[in-house]
Amino acid sequence: MSQMKELSTDILIIGAGPAGMAAAMELSKAKKDFIIIERSASVGGLSKTYAFKEGDLTFYTDNGPHRFFSKNPYLYEFIGDLLKEQWIKVIRQTRQFIDGKFYDYPVNAPQALRNMGLIKSAHVGFDYFWAKIVYGVFKKPVKNFEDYVIANFGRSLGDFNIINYTEKVWGIPAAEIHPDWATQRIKGLDLLAVMKDTIRRVMKKKSASGAGAPKSLVDVFYYPDQGTGLIYETIRARLEEQGYVIMLNSSPKEIQCTNGKMTKAIIDTPEGGNCHKIQLARRVRADDRIYKNPEACRTAKGHQGACIPSSPQSGIYVRHA
Ligand SMILES: Cc1cc2nc3c(=O)[nH]c(=O)nc-3n(C[C@H](O)[C@H](O)[C@H](O)COP(=O)(O)OP(=O)(O)OC[C@H]3O[C@@H](n4cnc5c(N)ncnc54)[C@H](O)[C@@H]3O)c2cc1C
Repeated sequence: MSQMKELSTDILIIGAGPAGMAAAMELSKAKKDFIIIERSASVGGLSKTYAFKEGDLTFYTDNGPHRFFSKNPYLYEFIGDLLKEQWIKVIRQTRQFIDGKFYDYPVNAPQALRNMGLIKSAHVGFDYFWAKIVYGVFKKPVKNFEDYVIANFGRSLGDFNIINYTEKVWGIPAAEIHPDWATQRIKGLDLLAVMKDTIRRVMKKKSASGAGAPKSLVDVFYYPDQGTGLIYETIRARLEEQGYVIMLNSSPKEIQCTNGKMTKAIIDTPEGGNCHKIQLARRVRADDRIYKNPEACRTAKGHQGACIPSSPQSGIYVRHA
């Protein structure tokens, strides 16, 4: 027979990815009351690190390469305080394997020219200048991520190097991602910036790792010495030491709302038939949710906040004071 355990909290965090864990850490510093529920077996979301044992050795691998770069010094302090000497600087080497060849990421222009050959390179150049005319001279509006990339790189390089990759990573068509997200990820980077960086490197002048370089060209970055997931595992340990509840393998089965305000959540827990009923101390408004990933940045309609009746996206629901 199923049992219903009742819990009460002010704040419900759904999803223990970077956004959920960072919010939890901040809320714990402010001594707030919250519960985290996470549908997978571990914290970290897309930024988790997997450990593989082989004999006496343990190998760590991230869910794709994760480099940390921000212009916000608070974030460096936040993670530095958390990880101490395990927060190290590493030199970046990122490559994409496309059509049987490795391409440095960000683009290394001479290598890309060699790999693509003259005809494809000429096509890339033509598309770039065409995009400058369409978006620069004729002022075609940039309505989504795909437009942003084409305006800055041209259609063929955009498809080849950025759009395809972004759609695979996020599972969302680039035309449905808000252009603001592009300015967060690749602001300051376009084909011209890549060419300038290449010339600088060839002339052995200052490389793009200097301050002010576009984010995607930065080639030295901070990294936790056991993978990016260490950040979230460390937060988890800190929160559990303080007595906070983090429910893994758990997700909302039902979220109850009254007049657009969330009041209760029924949570499916690992024990199968067992459920937890989480009562929010006060009602929350649907728009109190903190959005934080491109899923939530979709240009398409669909943000129902706390009132998505089943299988809601991850989110952080706060009480309405
Ligand atoms: C291959 C790859 C490379 C990347 N490289 C970088 C990089 O170099 N630098 C960088 O800054 N970022 C990088 N990112 C992006 C980074 O991983 C994400 O920005 C970050 O993980 C987003 O965090 P989040 O908490 O918003 O979402 P997520 O990481 O998606 O976490 C959401 C969490 O919510 C849980 N969840 C979802 N729905 C529910 C539900 N209904 N109930 C319970 N739990 C739920 C999920 O299981 C997940 O744990 C990369 C991503 C990938 C995939």
